[in-house]
Order: sequence, then C-alpha cells, then structure tokens
Amino acid sequence: MESRRPLKDFGIIGFSLAYELSYTNVLNILDLGGIPKMSSERSDADPLIIAGGPAAFNPEPMADFIDAFVIGEGEEVIEEIIDLYKTTKHKKELLRKLSTLKGVYVPSLYKTEYNEDGTINKFFPEEDGIPDKIEKRIVKDLDKAFYPVRQIVPNIEIVHDRIAIEIMRGCKHACSFCQATAIYRPCRERSKERILELAEKSYAMTGHDKISLLSLSSVDHTCIKEIMERLNDEFNKKAISISVPSLRVEDALKDLPVLIAKVKKSGLTFAPESGSERLRKMMNKNIDIEKLFKALTESFRAGWRHVKLYFMIGLPTEGPDDLLKIAELIYKVSDARREIDGKSANVTASINAFVPKPHTPLERSGMCSIEILTEKKALLRGAMKSKFVELDFHPFNMSYLEAVFARGDRRLGRVIFEAWKRGAKFDGWQDIFNFTFWSESFVAAGVDPRFYANRERPKDEILPWSFIRL
Ligand code: SF4
Repeated sequence: MESRRPLKDFGIIGFSLAYELSYTNVLNILDLGGIPKMSSERSDADPLIIAGGPAAFNPEPMADFIDAFVIGEGEEVIEEIIDLYKTTKHKKELLRKLSTLKGVYVPSLYKTEYNEDGTINKFFPEEDGIPDKIEKRIVKDLDKAFYPVRQIVPNIEIVHDRIAIEIMRGCKHACSFCQATAIYRPCRERSKERILELAEKSYAMTGHDKISLLSLSSVDHTCIKEIMERLNDEFNKKAISISVPSLRVEDALKDLPVLIAKVKKSGLTFAPESGSERLRKMMNKNIDIEKLFKALTESFRAGWRHVKLYFMIGLPTEGPDDLLKIAELIYKVSDARREIDGKSANVTASINAFVPKPHTPLERSGMCSIEILTEKKALLRGAMKSKFVELDFHPFNMSYLEAVFARGDRRLGRVIFEAWKRGAKFDGWQDIFNFTFWSESFVAAGVDPRFYANRERPKDEILPWSFIRL
C-alpha cells in the first residue's frame, strides 16, 4: 500500500491463516491484486501464493487457492523457499522442488479419493518423489531466530497498534480442546536478555507507546517476574505501558498484578473454560480454583476492578448442571471483590461454542448443533441476573462455520469460492458477517456442512489432515 505497487507485481505473496473465517479475504485480496484466484489458473507470470499459520494445519479447504502451504514455523523455511524461487524459472518446476522441503505442502501434487458415504478413502501424491506425509517445521532456538524489530508503523490507527514481543512459543499445558498447544509444541522460551534487547530495539525503530508480551501462557515463562521488572524499570519513565494478555492461574500470578499495576490497570483475564470440575478434568484444564480466587483477591487489592472470563459451552458430555456451574463461578468471581472494598466486581463472561480442532485429542468429536447451543444459551441467561455481569456469546453460526472449515476437506473450496462470489468477506467481523451467503453457497456447491461440523468421526476414518505429522 505504501509504495502503491500492485500486488500482482510481487514475486511471492504470503498469507497467514490465523482463523478459518478469514478465507474469503484471501480470495478478495487476490482478486483486488489482479491475481487469478485458482492456483490452477496462475501462470509463470503470476506471483507464487503461499500460506501458513495455525489454520494451515488443515490446509485442505484452501487447497484450490494456495500454491504451497508452510506447515509449522516460518522463520527458517522462508529463506529456503526464497532461494528456490530465485533459482527456478518455471512455476511447475518450482512447486515440485518446494514440495521436497520439510514442512512445505503443495496441494496440486496430491489427490484425494472418496468413499460412497463421502469419507476419505485415500489421499496420495500423484508423482514419485513427493512425500506422502508432511512434517511440521520447528525453530529450535528462538534466540537465534529472526525477529522483526523494524515493524511497520502505519499512518492510520490499527487494531494492534503496539510493539509485540513473543516471549515464548508453545504451552507447557495440554488442554484437550486446544489446537495451539498441539501445533506449537514443544514449548520454548526466548531468553530474558533477548526479550529486553528486542523491546529496546523495537521501541527505537517504531516509537510505539505500548509493548505487549505475547505467548500462549506468559506467566509460565520462567523469568516472567524479572522480565516485567526490567521492562518496567526501563520503560516506565518513558510512559510506555507493558501488557501481558495471556495470564494463567498459577503461583507466579500473585506477583504479577503488582508489577503490571505500576503501569496500567488493564482488564484481568482468566480462562476457566468451564464451571464444572468434571468438564475441566475432561479438558485437562487443571485449574486450582482456590489459587484463582487468591490471585483475584490480590488483583482487586492491587487496583483491578474488571475481570474477563472465558468459557466454552457445547463440550462433549456437557449437561444442564455443568452450565449452571458456569453461572455459579461467575457470581463467585464478582463477589470476590467484596472482601476488599465491599463492592461487586464487574465481570464480562465471554462464551464460545466448543469447536473441535484438528490435531487435538477432541479432533473427532462432533460440534453441538446451533439449535442445541441456543437452548444452552437460554439456560445460562436465565441463571444470570446480576447487573455486574455481562454475558457475551460469540455468534454460534460463526463458530459453526469455523468448525466446518477447521475439519473440512478440499471439496469445501467450491463453497468458499461461491460465498466470495456472493459478497462474503471479513467473515470474522460480526458486523459484516452474513450467514446467508454461506447457507446459499453450501447448497450451490452441493455440500452438507453438518457432515463436517457436527459428525463425530470414527477412530478408523481418515481425516483430511491425517497426512500432517506434528
Ligand atoms: S493453557 Fe491455554 S494455551 Fe495452554 S494448552 Fe491450555 S488452552 Fe492451550
């Protein structure tokens, strides 16, 4: 945008597929950039279109549009891709060479055969010398990996208008619904020296007034307390705020609020995921509720007033009692402030439908139908009457689509194309999302979305992502 150079003039275009509902935006960007949307329609004169990111761990729904996927971490493989790109003239030859790189999947070189019931019978490379399994890429040493300190400073206000420093990759916990822990395994830390160096350099290069420390569970970094202290010492005087978005309830948490409180009283976020001990156990979400309340009390004492809680509904085996326990927990959290100043805390409970994700222990579970989820929502709403509590339900039809594409195969390419033709874009934005585009597109493409979202997959069924090795 800043150089006004048309997208089609670039050699390689890379998309990060963070979320299944961003797929139509990929088509839209290609279209606006003057690039054929179908991989099969691109010539040597068109850019090479690659994609990676968490959603690429099941690349199949986007197989028609992407020339090559990177499965796993990109810092090292991107250089190998560029080297091959520079030395190979024709795209067909380039794709073949790319397919031999570890972690690179070229969908056009593979074929899927289906059984009569629509399940996969066989998935295989069509030529000799192409790997039949794709092993994900992992960067061994985060300290040595490239990190972009010269981050782009846009001249408009953007969503993440801050310096982002990834302090850790992966998570040492193993919640059974969590795709992130599975795909970013093993858990690796960036050293505190490198984090401080990156913070200083990024600040010098950008002048942002916020630094956000990113990871799946920041409190698990072995040096988090020291990192926060050093960053606060360094940046407090410059009025730079430091935020840690992902906090998990652990012993170390009791030290954190005081540290962060020096800079900014942003909201405090916890993700108990369920109110029921039984379901938390089933999810392997081992939260010590006593510790949660201890941490909450500390936080209220340090000045926090607002708590955000994340829950999931529609989990396998969930019953009405489990839902009522969510309401119970929310009330208790709100009341925990009373012993500090006699007032209830404001609580926002963000409630998402459970979406089974590839590569997780729950990858074969079916998602609840929208009708059942709506009944569960009504039960929960009926149980929550406090003016201090806000229940924020993520739209179920968006989660439903997410489930379809998360566990879909390459037959869904037609649905994505149809939806884009009808005007679907920014599907992850609630104010723009239009479910009608999608329901019409499923019909037009002759695809039943329930086959992908709601169906429990038997143990012996070949999954569309079975060829990916983590
Ligand atoms: S703690 Fe969070 S990131 Fe880690 S496995 Fe559980 S849900 Fe995933």
